[in-house]
Amino acid sequence: MVEDVEVWKQVFQELMQEVKPWHTWTLTLDKGLLPNVLKPGRAQYQQWTFARFQCSSCSRSWASAQVQVFFHMHWSKEESKGQVKMRVFAQRCQKCSQPPFEVPQFTQENISRILNNLVLRILKKCYREGFKPVEEIPTIKDFSLEGPHDSDNCEACLQGFCAGPPQVTNLLASRSSRANTSYQEESWAVSMH
Ligand SMILES: [Zn+2]
Ligand SMILES: [Zn+2]
Repeated sequence: MVEDVEVWKQVFQELMQEVKPWHTWTLTLDKGLLPNVLKPGRAQYQQWTFARFQCSSCSRSWASAQVQVFFHMHWSKEESKGQVKMRVFAQRCQKCSQPPFEVPQFTQENISRILNNLVLRILKKCYREGFKPVEEIPTIKDFSLEGPHDSDNCEACLQGFCAGPPQVTNLLASRSSRANTSYQEESWAVSMH
């Protein structure tokens, strides 16, 4: 994960340098960050992304289109300094009996997309730039998903933070495994409207 954080930091720096070369922005990971619990002067930005996970006990890997990444940003105009805190929710293996939570692995392309979206949001929220509605670039799903979202093993679900936007699920997921479909059907209902 350490290396991974460095990638996020580096890409973020490159993107901020392009738009605000004279300003200092930092990105840090904060595992204690809570969605919708904001300190004064901070803005939140949440994205639902695609990532894959690997179990450190059995090496099984899986993919999820419901990986929540969120940021709290703060901009100090007087100091020309900005701060972004980030948290990514983990998931754990479905097959192991006592699996540890695993952090998601993102492709470089998806890290760039997520951070591009973040920078556009910073320009809008902190600098009041970009008057058009910001269009979000979705992350790339690089392989097909199996089954519905596994809420029992999703850190965000377990903490009550996973009520995400309707996701595009595959048909197989809603046809099979009736046990865990209530969320799925809700998603379908929303996307049909
Ligand atoms: Zn496992
Ligand atoms: Zn969840």
